[in-house]
Amino acid sequence: MDNGADFVKMVIERIREKETTRREKQRMCNKQWIENHRDRHNANVSKNNAKLRLQCLQHYCGSEVPFCQCPGCRETTIQFLTIDHINGGGTQHFKEVGGGTNFYNWLKRNNYPDGFQVLCMNCNHAKGHYGKCPHKERAELIEIALTFEG
Ligand SMILES: [Zn+2]
Ligand SMILES: [Zn+2]
Repeated sequence: MDNGADFVKMVIERIREKETTRREKQRMCNKQWIENHRDRHNANVSKNNAKLRLQCLQHYCGSEVPFCQCPGCRETTIQFLTIDHINGGGTQHFKEVGGGTNFYNWLKRNNYPDGFQVLCMNCNHAKGHYGKCPHKERAELIEIALTFEG
C-alpha cells in the first residue's frame, strides 16, 4: 500500500474513527454529567422556567414588578399570579399548546400575542366562577358613586 491515494484514505478513515470515538465519549460525558448533576440540572431547568414565567408576567403587566390587573386587587405575590385568557377559551388553548411552561413558551414564541392579562389566582377563579371578579364590581360601584358626586 505504497500508493498515495490509499494512504490518504487511511488517514481520513483514522480521523473519522477518532472523531466518532470523541463524539461518543462526549455524549457519554454529557449523559454522565446530567446523571451526576441531575439535581443541579433540574434546578437549572426550574430556574429557567421561573425566568420565562416572570418575563411573560412582566410583559403583560408592562411593569418590572408584575401585579394582578384586576382593579382593586393589585396582588404582587408572584406565586399567586397567572396569565388569563381575557376572552376565555383557556381550557381549549391549554389542550392545544400544553399547560405550564409549554404555555409560557408558546406566548414567547408568538411574540406575546394580545388577548391575555395577568390575574392572581383569586381573581382568575372568581372570573371563571362568577363571570367577573367581585373586585371589578366594587370598582364599578365606586366609579358610579364618583360620577354622582361629580
Ligand atoms: Zn387579583
Ligand atoms: Zn379581583
